[in-house]
Amino acid sequence: MLICLDAGHGGKDPGACGAYSKEKDIALTAVLMLGSLLDELGFDIMYTRTTDTYVNLIERAKLANNAKANLFISIHCNSAADKTACGTEVLCYDVCDEANSIQTFLTSETGLKNRGIKIRKDLAVLNCTSMTAVLAELAFISNPAEEALLNNAAWLERNMTAIAKAVCKCFGIPYLIKDTVPAVTETVISINGEDKKVRRILKDGENYIRLRDLESIINISYNAADKKVSVSPK
Ligand SMILES: [Zn+2]
Repeated sequence: MLICLDAGHGGKDPGACGAYSKEKDIALTAVLMLGSLLDELGFDIMYTRTTDTYVNLIERAKLANNAKANLFISIHCNSAADKTACGTEVLCYDVCDEANSIQTFLTSETGLKNRGIKIRKDLAVLNCTSMTAVLAELAFISNPAEEALLNNAAWLERNMTAIAKAVCKCFGIPYLIKDTVPAVTETVISINGEDKKVRRILKDGENYIRLRDLESIINISYNAADKKVSVSPK
């Protein structure tokens, strides 16, 4: 079962901006947490982006279509001019079990206002994807209390666990997971005195930094012939 995970926005498109955080960063952190969870549950995972890059909406749908993904899940934060607007909603092209289930699990986990399922025929990631596609608006980044939640890793993990449970329910797969969700945080690597931020994944008591994340800050190459990894500053 292949799940395509889509972190909303990215690169030149920050998405909605709160007082101190951007939707694109929260969406990416959340999607990587969800991917780790679903991977542990035995799902095959693909991402439309795993770094802070811009991928246009049609391209995101095409990636999922070409890979014949079984389900597409897009993660976003909501925003409104009215700073009191709050709650969780799930967008979909047509009402489906996946949307209902994700909305139910999310709101029962967090207790945020249930804004329900919204039918959206106009969104490319929903109308250009050939598989069931849902877009979760976790909370309002424009609402100060909800922006604080969105920036709380433990809260985000609870949300992603809720989505993983919903996905399991839809595919009739038991939710069995050995470990807690890996904590994803940032760490700083100093290269020639210049500090660069990189994602750090804590799993089974060990810290991991992924090669693809390191590639964004240093030149790194692997020579299969002599099994040598070469590293140099960018
Ligand atoms: Zn968005």
